[in-house]
Amino acid sequence: MNHDLTPTAEPVNKLIQELNKLPGIGPKSAQRLAYHLLRVPEEQARLLADALLSLKQKTTLCSICFNVTESAPCSICRSDQRDRSRICIVEQPQDILALEHTKVYNGLYHVLHGAISPTEGVGTDDIRIKELLERLQGSSVGEVILATNLTLEGEQTAMYLNKLISPLGIRVTRLARGLPFGTELEYADDVTLTRAIEGRQEF
Ligand SMILES: [Zn+2]
Repeated sequence: MNHDLTPTAEPVNKLIQELNKLPGIGPKSAQRLAYHLLRVPEEQARLLADALLSLKQKTTLCSICFNVTESAPCSICRSDQRDRSRICIVEQPQDILALEHTKVYNGLYHVLHGAISPTEGVGTDDIRIKELLERLQGSSVGEVILATNLTLEGEQTAMYLNKLISPLGIRVTRLARGLPFGTELEYADDVTLTRAIEGRQEF
């Protein structure tokens, strides 16, 4: 934004620029949010700023499943209530939130932090596949559920993982096809997700 041409105070411009970098926030939304924040009490602004900083300073990735956590290993990996014979593979940490919300799955997770996408230059070494294979070696895991998104990238990733994991003698399943193509897990509703997990099929 060229502030020589706008009558906006520089701190407002700066916030608009930063908000505009967020996914799904266009210039208009960024402007609306910035002016909204300008009107909130200073205390509320401080809470937001603190939350943002804590997000970076007080979180880390779980050393086992790569979920976002305050202390590694994460609470799911540490729990003795979870079924350790199953690992559900997801693309992003927020997919775990969606699946946990359904309460139908009680196994462990592994977060890839992305999906294979030749068009976007994401290769097999750019996501946490090596770590997954290391984790599976010599483990007592009996089933791996491929819960990558029902998108082109998600399907490609699932196919690639199936090729690597099947030879290890581990059962590989995929979310039921009931999910419409293009579905991203984090946006799927509970009923659909529950059906997808319960109806999972051999890959
Ligand atoms: Zn973990």
